[in-house]
Amino acid sequence: MISDNISKKFISEAEKIYVTQPLLPELKDVFSEIADIWQSKWITNMGVKHNELEIVLKNILKVPYGSLFNNGTIALLTAVKAMDFHSGGEIITTPFTFAATPHCISWNGLKPVFCDIEPDTLTIDADKIEDYITPNTVAILGVHVYGFPCNVEKIDRIAKKYNLKVIYDGAHAFSTEINGKGIGTYGDITMFSFHATKLFNTLEGGYLSYNSPELVKKIYNLRNFGIQNEELVEDIGINGKMNEIQAAIGLLNLKLYKKEQEKRKKVKALYDENLFGIKGIRIPKMPDNTTNSYQYYPIIIENDYPLTRNEIYDNFKKMNIYTRKYFYPACHDYECYKNDLSVKLANLKVVNDIKHKVLCLPYYGDLETENIIKICKVLKNAR
Ligand SMILES: *Cc1c(COP(=O)(O)O)cnc(C)c1O
Repeated sequence: MISDNISKKFISEAEKIYVTQPLLPELKDVFSEIADIWQSKWITNMGVKHNELEIVLKNILKVPYGSLFNNGTIALLTAVKAMDFHSGGEIITTPFTFAATPHCISWNGLKPVFCDIEPDTLTIDADKIEDYITPNTVAILGVHVYGFPCNVEKIDRIAKKYNLKVIYDGAHAFSTEINGKGIGTYGDITMFSFHATKLFNTLEGGYLSYNSPELVKKIYNLRNFGIQNEELVEDIGINGKMNEIQAAIGLLNLKLYKKEQEKRKKVKALYDENLFGIKGIRIPKMPDNTTNSYQYYPIIIENDYPLTRNEIYDNFKKMNIYTRKYFYPACHDYECYKNDLSVKLANLKVVNDIKHKVLCLPYYGDLETENIIKICKVLKNAR
């Protein structure tokens, strides 16, 4: 009886289509890596696999310096901390992102100030950033949302003009290049997330890339409680260390992520082909000079489509297809931010429109062609 129930549950799970599937190495390869680790008895604290992964990633991401973390949020928290901002400083950021982005600002005793987004790339609107600058502004924190790059050149110019730091949340932008340059080379620090749902994962994990050699020691210390050596604690650090099993999974997944991107490229082409020309459906486009990370497949349901985004979401759900309303609610709608004076005064017209229209379709390399066609038919036949 029990096994019957389990197999029923298993079958119904298998029929569900989620927004993503984690990239997983072969189990036998994982076992062999774990056997190595068991034998070494070095489980965490900058072990062999950790150090290898940290170095290899610099080449893959084309960045001069980089540090691994146990997750992307702790990495971003540390990035903000490493800048030594005065308390109460304001950081101009986008509300169209995951909760971790503004929370990392607030946890550092700083204030997120939400700026509107561009309708095309859905990233922070660089043309509006200057409207939000006050004497308290210390930095700009942009998010390369869905892997679409922020307007990095313009943000750089504004930062120089007002002497601000620039931090990027590149959680969705693994391996993205702008004009052949690693996206992690823009700004002062960029965070990458290696969470299971991200294109390249270490189960949970994160990474900071940066250009300044002065940050190497600073970030190394902050990641390890601020401990310099056995008798010297210099900084108010945290435990941000990645363990050896995470690093081993990372090394294995590094051999697989390009193939996964190739497969997702084909999934994207099939979606593009079948959704092209449907009135009321807009597919945001990657700029020509930028490579795609293939992290998400977002569509925008415009007003002239016969159904609302929520109706489409519900229809898919009834069919066991789980799309995601990334990012609804937007961060300025959260209970913890919505009463901020800066939110009440902010003009967030574009994001307040887009958040009701965006939908991320199921997107992973092994998504079957027949399911892609099925999803597209649902969208096509709504009228
Ligand atoms: C996933 C994600 C994070 C957080 O990364 P974790 O590794 O899950 O802590 C931060 N920002 C964005 C935009 C994300 O999508």
